[in-house]
Formats: sequence, structure tokens, C-alpha cells
Amino acid sequence: MNRQALINFTQRLVRQPSLSGEEAAVIQIVINEMQALGFDTVWVDENGSAIGILAGARPGKTLLFDAHCDTVGIAPGSIWTRDPFGGEIIDGNLYGRGSADMKGALASMIHAAASVDKSKLLGRIVVSASVMEEVFEGGALKTVMDQINPDYVVIGESSDLNLVHGGRGRAEIHLETIGKPSHSSSPHLGVNAVHLMMKVIEAVDQIKLSAHPRLGPAILALTDIISEPYPGYSVIPSRCKATYDRRLLLDETIGDVLGAITSLPELKSIPLNTIIAQGEHQTYTGAPLRGTKFFPAWELDPKHPFVESALRGLRTSGIDPQLSAYRFCTNAAYSIGIAGIPTIGFGPGTEADAHIVDEHLSLEALEKAAHGYQRMMEAVLS
Ligand SMILES: [Zn+2]
Repeated sequence: MNRQALINFTQRLVRQPSLSGEEAAVIQIVINEMQALGFDTVWVDENGSAIGILAGARPGKTLLFDAHCDTVGIAPGSIWTRDPFGGEIIDGNLYGRGSADMKGALASMIHAAASVDKSKLLGRIVVSASVMEEVFEGGALKTVMDQINPDYVVIGESSDLNLVHGGRGRAEIHLETIGKPSHSSSPHLGVNAVHLMMKVIEAVDQIKLSAHPRLGPAILALTDIISEPYPGYSVIPSRCKATYDRRLLLDETIGDVLGAITSLPELKSIPLNTIIAQGEHQTYTGAPLRGTKFFPAWELDPKHPFVESALRGLRTSGIDPQLSAYRFCTNAAYSIGIAGIPTIGFGPGTEADAHIVDEHLSLEALEKAAHGYQRMMEAVLS
């Protein structure tokens, strides 16, 4: 593997801004690199995700490596000491938005795949640069998987070069209280939906949540609240909406999550709608991405043959990975949480490196990830 070419490619990816829904230019860079490196088949799908296939000499399993190519933005008022789109290398670290989350992983996967000796390979390696992950986990990956039917999936989100075999899930819950409007000079004639919501919030705060040794605690966090009409002048609000972010543990269902709220005795007399939010996004190609914002937690048995062969591959690359779990939500929520395809995670950087000011990735981790991916491809498809 050509170390300098890997670094240069990562820099080119970081220098091209790619907010969710604006990935066209970065996808073109990915396509050009896959073609230059000799991928057998390369295309852009209906959502605008890039997909490249390398076929082994003999038939076998299909192993999909997925990295999302969109990034979060630069928060207004945040002060970077490096150019977020400069791709500068300082003291062995590559700086820029997306370096750790997760253009370094994407570059490593592509260069790793191109370095595998195809004459010894059974089956095929597929690398996808998927779009829109930061706003809708799993949405674009579903379309990728529908096209290539993978037997196994590797998600390249930061794992500090450990092997991830589980992850916490996420749901977005919308609560709405229904009051009755009146002139605010006569509030007693109406029912104030904000007052109702205050009771709901107090009750919801009392819900007891469990914890998992690797995934961490389940979370139920209030993230926004708004009344209607808004802004309200001289009127008692008739509706109030609150959004909760719920972090999910294994086996939690939509019914469990909503039932824990609707069954609260304090809420019996309050007119309340409780739903899981619907995602409605459009990709840069104009394709719609829709779905319920419920992304299940997942876990793959550490004794699963896929985990064992991936571990074996990583060890031959000189890495000593621990078994670990993602606490944040990733595309794995779809690939295994919903589609049930055996999935693991492995990537350079740590969860704490994502979405931060002065985001950066060490070149050492970048290179180790690339070698790890290559050995993993060889071990799983042998
Ligand atoms: Zn990410």
C-alpha cells in the first residue's frame, strides 16, 4: 500500500466540504479514486452514494465496507485554530472537518481494497461512500445493501482501532399536548398546552431507565420544546410540542419506548399525542429518504465466525484490538439492527474526535486502519 497516496487522498476528501445533502463533489473524488485504483465496477446510486466492487478470482461471500462521506458543519461562532477544509498535516495529525468522522476511514477502506491480491480472494469486496448519515442513519445504506446483498458489513466509524460488535440505538420521540385557545386576558376560558406539557415533562423525568455494561445507559433527554401559535401574542397556547432524544439498549421496541410514557399514571388525564418522529430528507440527487426515526441497538455474538475471522485479520496486521461497542448511533442500526446482516465496526480515531473544533486524525491511526482493513478483507474472504 502506498502510504503517501493514502494520505494525499484523505487530504483531498477533507478539502472538499460535504455537508449532508451536498456530497456531489466529494462523491466524484471517490469515484475517480476507485477507478484509478482499478476497482472492477464503480457507480453512483439513486441517492448519490458511491459504490465500488472488487471481485475475487473465485466466488464467495460479499463483504461490504461502508463509510459515510457527509460531515456535520462548522458551528457558528466556533473558533478553529486550523482551516477546517485545509487538510493540513501538523505533528503527524491531519486536520479538518471529517478527518476523523469519517473520511480517513473511507480513504483507508478504498486503498485497502485496492491492495488486496484478488487472485487469492473468494467472493467480492464492496466499498460504499454513503450519503446523509449525519441526518438519517441507515437510510442511504439500505439502498446500497438492496443493490449488493452483502453477507457481512463493516462500518468504519471511529473505534480507536478496536473491534466493535454492538452499538446503542437512537429514537426521536415527539410529544404533543392539546389545550384550548383563549384570549390571554381570560386565561381561565382556555387550557394552556404549555402548562400541560410542564406536567408531562415532570412525569417523564421520573421514568427509570436501564443500563448495559458495554452500550452504556439508556437515555431520555429533552432536546426542544415549542408552543403554538408561535410567537404567541395575547393568546393561550393550544398546542405544545416537545422532542426527546432516546438512546436505546438491546431489544427495546417502539412499543416499549412509547409505552413507558403513555402508561404513566400522572398523564392519564392529559390530552397527549406520543409518536416516533418521521424522517423526511432529500439527497443531492433529488431522491427522497424517508423513514421512522427509530434505530435499534444491536449486538453480534463475539463467537460469530465473522467476528473471529475479522479479529484474526486485524491481529495479523499488527493491531491488538479489544472487543468494544459504539455508544453513538451508526449505519449499523440499519445493517444489523433492522436488516439482520452480521455487522462489525472498525475505524481510526475515537468517538470523542467526532464533530469537534479542530477535528483531526493521526496519520499513524490512518495507516493502521488501512492495513487492518486489508488484512480483514483477506481473512474474511479466504
Ligand atoms: Zn460518523
